[in-house]
This record gives sequence, C-alpha cells and structure tokens, in this order.
Amino acid sequence: MTKLVALPIPFSAGENQRIVYPVIASDAKHTVLIDTGFPGQLPLLQEAAAKEGIALENLTHIVITHHDMDHIGSLAALKRTFPRAQVVSSAIEADYINGSKKSPRLELAEQRAASLPPAEQQGALAYVQMLKSVERIEVDKTFKEDELLPCFGGVLIISTPGHLPGHISLYFEKDKTLITGDAMTMENGKVAMANPQYTLNMPQARESVQQFLKYDIEKIICYHGGVFEGDGHKAIEEALANS
Ligand SMILES: [Zn+2]
Repeated sequence: MTKLVALPIPFSAGENQRIVYPVIASDAKHTVLIDTGFPGQLPLLQEAAAKEGIALENLTHIVITHHDMDHIGSLAALKRTFPRAQVVSSAIEADYINGSKKSPRLELAEQRAASLPPAEQQGALAYVQMLKSVERIEVDKTFKEDELLPCFGGVLIISTPGHLPGHISLYFEKDKTLITGDAMTMENGKVAMANPQYTLNMPQARESVQQFLKYDIEKIICYHGGVFEGDGHKAIEEALANS
C-alpha cells in the first residue's frame, strides 16, 4: 500500500513563519520525495519523514517539480547523504538544476536589481546572491512529457509550464491525488492559481491548470498551502474562474 503524505517544513519569511509541503510517497519497493525545501532543511525533512514512519535512508527517487530555490534548496545535501536516490526532473528544468543554463528566475532578479536606483538595490542584490548560492547538482533522469511512472499504481507526470518553463505536476492515479508543485497554491482552505507575481507566463499557467480537469481528483497537495480534500474538479474550476 502506498503511503502518500505532505511533510510540513517550516521556514521564516521575514517576521513570519511559513510552511512548504514537500511530499513523500512510500511503499515496499519505492520511497519518492517530491521537492526538497530550502537550503539547510535536510534535518527538518528527516524529522518530518520520521514522524510519518518513513526513513529517508530508503529514498529511491527525488522528483523536482521545478528549480526554484525552495524546491531544490536541500537537493544537493540529500543526494550527498543518500547517493542511491535518483534525481529526476523534466529535461527543461534539468539544465537549470545543474546550472548549465542560466535560471530565468535569476535573470529576472538581476534585471529588477539593475532597474532600481543604487540606494534601493541592497535587498534586490541580496536576493540575487541568495539565488546564486543555491548548490547545483546533476539530474540523473529526465521525464518525457506525460510519462507514466511504474510505481504506486501509476504516477502520471504532467507537464505544467507557466510558473517556470519546465514545471511538472504529478498525478497518483490509484490515490486520485494531484501534486501541483507551484502550478497551484492553497489559501484559506481553497486552491488557487499560482501567484502571478512569481509566474513567468500566466496564460500558459492557466492552460496547464486546465489540464488537471481531465483527471479524477479527490486530494490536491500544493507546495504552498498544503492538502485539499474534496471535489477536486470543482475546486480547480473555481480557482480558474477566480483568477
Ligand atoms: Zn516556484
């Protein structure tokens, strides 16, 4: 039987304490972590997984939905600690994860810093430095579009560009569970479209979310916001209508 859980990983954003939700799926054969939190969060991931009775020592795969720093932050540390785990992503994101291509997120941050008067650049430049400091690592395997992974009763990789160009989401068929990554968020118990502020291509992001309506969904896990349980179709349609 598959154990499929969101791991609440806290982080501080200025004065506020927030939470991101990497997901871990585990059965007798596979243990798969989806996204890895910020840099330095490996101990928190281990602790959160242990609370669910899952040992990261058993990790077989680490799936990355996209290369933003809150998703790949602890990836290099995880791979060093658990080298048996295969790192997987889309082919597009693999080039950003390994650093062979310059991240569009970094490019935007640099443009923003350059557009500010020198006296106001400090925060923007610190953000640029932070993005640059994230450790880069090779991806072991890339997905083809709409590939079906032969584990947990079938896991569909859905190409969901928009937030970033090679973004993917995952659909666990047997569990009727959608892992959105950052294609959607959850606020006040409701799923919503990705935050336009951090989305590179909003029309593309909407098209990506529309694809989710093809699937029978009873549970949605958003990296920012956590777990929604109920009528997935209705929730996604509402999110599209409200954006
Ligand atoms: Zn993101």
